Amino acid sequence: MSDCIFCQIAAGQIESDIVYEDELVVAFRDLNPQAPTHILLIPRQHMGSLDAASDEDIQLLGHLTLVAAQIGRSEGIAEDGYRLLTNVGPDAGQSVPHLHFHLLGGRVMHWPPG
Ligand code: AMP
Repeated sequence: MSDCIFCQIAAGQIESDIVYEDELVVAFRDLNPQAPTHILLIPRQHMGSLDAASDEDIQLLGHLTLVAAQIGRSEGIAEDGYRLLTNVGPDAGQSVPHLHFHLLGGRVMHWPPG
């Protein structure tokens, strides 16, 4: 989608601090980090949120999740722990309508989130 900011990041049309990319997914540092490590993982293919995913996306979503775990290790936060989450829709505060997972670590996380 040409007007989607995360599609533009995936296409290299907008600058971002990319930490990982392959043919299916891109991971880059959040502009407004909420933890010492705050990375966003997105599918290259546009999808509004997890609610738009279907059985056809099983491989993509499994891959994205394992890439998140790999980044957790490469960022050095796997041992102390991290949080992987996706916001879906207005009640969760989703502000960018392209599926993305937040990988947050480097500090103690509180539960439940606000
Ligand atoms: P959400 O509120 O779950 O939709 O998360 C959207 C996230 O995208 C927020 O944490 C923003 O700080 C982040 N964000 C928005 N635009 C950019 C950008 N151009 N580069 C990196 N992160 C961004």
